[in-house]
Amino acid sequence: MDSMDLEGLARLLREIAAEAKVTAGYTGISTFAPQTMQALADVPRHEFVPEEEQVSAYLDIPLPIGHGQTISQPYIVALMTDLLEIEPGDKVLEVGAGSGYQAAVLAKLARQVHTIEIVPALACACRERLARLGIANVTVHAGDGSAGLPELAPFNAIMVTAAARRVPPALVEQLKPGGRMAIPLGEAWSSQELVLLQKDVRGEVAVRPILPVRFVPLTGRETGRME
Ligand code: SAH
Repeated sequence: MDSMDLEGLARLLREIAAEAKVTAGYTGISTFAPQTMQALADVPRHEFVPEEEQVSAYLDIPLPIGHGQTISQPYIVALMTDLLEIEPGDKVLEVGAGSGYQAAVLAKLARQVHTIEIVPALACACRERLARLGIANVTVHAGDGSAGLPELAPFNAIMVTAAARRVPPALVEQLKPGGRMAIPLGEAWSSQELVLLQKDVRGEVAVRPILPVRFVPLTGRETGRME
């Protein structure tokens, strides 16, 4: 990273910390864990956006990544990462790889990340990018992630980065007892709520609303959508 990026990154991390304080009334979290902030500090976001967006890579905004999709706002990446309370030995599933940025952040904290992307060209570009950056503990799967990856389940944590109408039941099944899932729920392009789902050791699930958000829609079979 050149010096301008480092300055931009430092400012971005301060903005994320400030935004955490502002939203604490909703989220119940006023300070993100040092590991969360370090993971964001360690992933060069400019590598994950198209060249024409690189000047904006360290602004706290979502950016277009082609195919009508976006890389999430960094504060949202931090929040969703923090909510999952990843441990170093964890195996994590992400649905909606997009650019691979969120997966790269998770990969700083977990043992192994599996991420699925339904747009083949994005899956391909994501795989190449992560390989080029030497991020070896992310596997990019091309396909519909709304039914998860049963052959690799269970997962210690699951993150869905596209909005579904309801929580895909297959994903709940693939979550380990004691595990956590972050998922935006709601209608496409309208009001959505980021929710945190926690499965206790007996397998019972509790759902907590976290924050109003705006994500691109989850497509595919198990989403509760009518397409
Ligand atoms: N996490 C990404 C941003 C996610 S944008 C990043 O860090 O860049 C949401 C992504 O979910 C889009 O790329 C979209 O194509 C993908 N998506 C939507 N429905 C999906 C599904 N059923 N399975 C897998 N990916 C899906």
